[in-house]
Amino acid sequence: MSRRKKLYEGKAKILYEGPEPGTLVQYFKDDATAFNAQKKATLEGKGVLNNRISEYIMLGLGRIGIPTHFIKRLNMREQLVRQVEIIPLEVVVRNVAAGSISKRLGIEEGEQLPRSIVEYYFKKDELGDPMVSEEHITAFNWASTQEIDDMMAMALRINDYLSGVFSAAGIRLVDFKLEFGRYYEGDMVRTVLADEISPDSCRLWDMDSNEKMDKDRFRQDLGNVTEAYAEVAKRLGIMKESGQAPANDEGK
Ligand code: C5P
Repeated sequence: MSRRKKLYEGKAKILYEGPEPGTLVQYFKDDATAFNAQKKATLEGKGVLNNRISEYIMLGLGRIGIPTHFIKRLNMREQLVRQVEIIPLEVVVRNVAAGSISKRLGIEEGEQLPRSIVEYYFKKDELGDPMVSEEHITAFNWASTQEIDDMMAMALRINDYLSGVFSAAGIRLVDFKLEFGRYYEGDMVRTVLADEISPDSCRLWDMDSNEKMDKDRFRQDLGNVTEAYAEVAKRLGIMKESGQAPANDEGK
């Protein structure tokens, strides 16, 4: 494994060349960054938890017919995924006001939004991922109108599905970020969900106490970050106990 080619290293993940053409290995690091990498830390065990949580969600989404890049989990920190051409957008879905929408529009954190809101951000670290409209997206050719329609439809279906899954686990899905890619199959191109869905990319609040169970614990120095991620995994039935993989997962 150590000799394989590294294709990309991001803030929380590394992509290696996969075993077959058209596949990649997605490796989950323990590194955490916030505020466009101005704040950095290593949170032991975070990568393992995100790998498992993202696998669980991608499999669930696959079952309801959302095409994803996910193929299978390989081990504690790695999954095999399809190679896609990443669309340079972050698609954010919000149900409850928090984070940048609260700041930008002066809506108090925790306020239920009148309906789910989908936003687009241009993926450009140097610019701090600015929010953009469909006009910008089509004018600058970042995605076609068909791709925008696909992303919007999938984002809303994913929101419905995930809101239900988390709600059954006593967790409120406040907001989350998605990334999509182009998957080329012969002369066909399909829009597929890529990247990861984990407490790094979602806001998750305990339904009763409103306690934060996501990356805001790191952003806001609330402590017990990995413990909160482990609790999410436990409630979803992924890990038996906090931070522990099920018995049949030993050595993986
Ligand atoms: O910061 P903001 O309120 O716009 O974030 C909305 C959602 O998107 C949050 O769940 C946040 O964790 C996620 N996000 C992300 N990666 C980014 C920006 C936001 O996962 N680069």
